Amino acid sequence: MEIDLDAVAANVAALRAAVVPARFCAVVKADGYGHGDVPVAEAALAAGADWLAVALVEEGVRLREAGIEAPILVLSEPANGDASAIVTWRLRPAVYTMPFVEALAAVAGPSPLPVHVKVNTGMHRVGAEPAEAMELLRLVSADPALHVEGIWTHFAVAEEDPDFTRSQIAALECFEEAAAAEGIRADLVHAANTAGALRYPEARRDLVRVGLGIYGLRPTPTTAPLVPLRPAMRVVSAVSYIRRLPAGERPSYGRRRALGRDATVATVPIGYADGVPRRLAQLGAEVLIRGRRYPHAGTVTMDQIVVDVGDDPVAVGDEVVLLGAQDEDTVTADEWAHLLDTINYEIVCNFGPRLPRRYVRSAP
Ligand SMILES: *Cc1c(COP(=O)(O)O)cnc(C)c1O
Repeated sequence: MEIDLDAVAANVAALRAAVVPARFCAVVKADGYGHGDVPVAEAALAAGADWLAVALVEEGVRLREAGIEAPILVLSEPANGDASAIVTWRLRPAVYTMPFVEALAAVAGPSPLPVHVKVNTGMHRVGAEPAEAMELLRLVSADPALHVEGIWTHFAVAEEDPDFTRSQIAALECFEEAAAAEGIRADLVHAANTAGALRYPEARRDLVRVGLGIYGLRPTPTTAPLVPLRPAMRVVSAVSYIRRLPAGERPSYGRRRALGRDATVATVPIGYADGVPRRLAQLGAEVLIRGRRYPHAGTVTMDQIVVDVGDDPVAVGDEVVLLGAQDEDTVTADEWAHLLDTINYEIVCNFGPRLPRRYVRSAP
C-alpha cells in the first residue's frame, strides 16, 4: 500500500479552505481509514488541521505516544474504566451517559477536564436523548472538575437526504437554545462529517469532523465537485510469475473462468489475506499493468491473484495496480465499492496488516 501524504495534505488544505472559519478536525479513527493514523495525522496537522478525532481511547493513546500534541476528540464514549486514561493522555471524550460523567468527575485533576456532550438528533446510534443530554450538561457545568467544551451531534444521511439532515441541524440548534436558556454554553458546537461540511454550510458551526474527504474520497460522486480531492491510497504489487496457457484452461481455485483464447496469465502476490476481497474476481474487477486494464483470470486466493493479460507483453516485476492510478488510468475505491455493493469507506478500511505500507510524497 502506497500512501501519498502530499495528497492528504492537499485534501486537508482544500477542504479547510471550503469550511473556514470553522475549525478543522481530521478524523483518523480505524488507523486513518486504513491509511495509517500517525502519518496521516501528522500530514493533516502540518496542512492546517486543528483537531484530530478517533473512535477509541487506544487510538488516541497511539497518537499521543507518537508525540502528537493536538487536541484529540474521542468520538465514542469510553468505558468507565478508561476515565483515568482520558486524563493521563489528555483526550477529549464524547460523553452521553451519567455513569461515565461520574467516572470522569472522580478522576479529573486540578484543571477542568473538557468533555463533549453528545445529543442524539436522529442517528439513533449513540448520544443522549435531548432531555437526558440536558441533565448531563447541568451535571458537567456544575462540576468544577469538568468543562463543557463541546455540544455535538452526528448526521445519519448527510450525503443523501437534505430534509432529514436539516431536521437534525434544527434539533441541535433547539438543544443549544435550551442549554443557553439555562446559562450553559459550549466552546464548540459541531455536527458535520465530510458530506455535512461540504453540502450544508449552516452545519459547519465551530468545527467540522472530516474523515473520508481527507483521504481523497467523496461521500457520493457528486458531492462538492469543485473541491479538488486526490485519493491518497494506491494498492500496488508486481508480477511474480508468467505462463502461457491454451484456450479453455481454467486458472485458480474452483476453476471458475475459462480462457476464451490462448492467453498469458500473470500471477501477482497479493490476495484476500491482504484485503483484496475474494468476490472481486467474479464481479469483473480489473487491474492495471503497463497502463492497461486486465481482468482476473480466476478466483482471488489468500496470497495471490491471477490476471489474464491476453497476448500483451508483460514481464516479471511489472507493476500491478489493484487500486489507484497508473499512467492515465485509475481504479477507484468507488469502482470496487460499486462491484461489491458497499461504500468506499469499507474498501479502504479493509486492507490487512500484512500489506506493507509505504509513505510517499508526490507533490501537487
Ligand atoms: C467517522 C465519523 C466522522 C467522519 O465521517 P466522514 O464521513 O468520514 O467524514 C465524523 N463524526 C463521527 C461521529 C464519526 O463517527
